[in-house]
Amino acid sequence: MQVLEPRSSRVDDVSPSRRHALIVHPPPADDTTSAIESLFDTITTTNVENALSALRRSTPALVIVDTSLPEDGARVVCRAAKQIAPPIAVLVMTADIVAVPAMIRAGCDSVLVHPFSPNLLFTRLARLFPARYSCRAIPSAASRFVPTNRIWKAACPACGRTEIVSFDAVAIRTWWFACPACGQTWIGPEAPDL
Ligand SMILES: [Zn+2]
Repeated sequence: MQVLEPRSSRVDDVSPSRRHALIVHPPPADDTTSAIESLFDTITTTNVENALSALRRSTPALVIVDTSLPEDGARVVCRAAKQIAPPIAVLVMTADIVAVPAMIRAGCDSVLVHPFSPNLLFTRLARLFPARYSCRAIPSAASRFVPTNRIWKAACPACGRTEIVSFDAVAIRTWWFACPACGQTWIGPEAPDL
């Protein structure tokens, strides 16, 4: 793992590659880090400016961002990652459900709600990057990703708009949902009434 903290010129050392993951995060737990490192080389920083610089220089396959970053940091990094062509997969980690709708509006592809096991993280990465298992020798194919946030044409219980997003499992067949329009979050059945 390459650590870019404190802010330093070491961002210049990041070699161009689409295969690594950029983790913008308070220092992650070791067991979480090892799940990520089983699939990606990793670059870690807790500094938003460093993250933006690394994004411009290195084009990772994946950005992992935690909403506990100060101020609007998580959203800023997510937006920047989604503006790069082709867009980079963004996995959000959060202990704050209320922060999720804004991250969905910023374009994130997947959300994991703390606390989660390393196994769950590993499973999520496998769903995001299904080709990584069959195409290890072909980095470009292994960089393709499938968002796990899922849009449903079903009504938000708060505002009634009919575009809601399921983003993380709570239990078997029970999911967290968010309404990007009004910011409501709630728990509901896996397949909402259409
Ligand atoms: Zn709503």
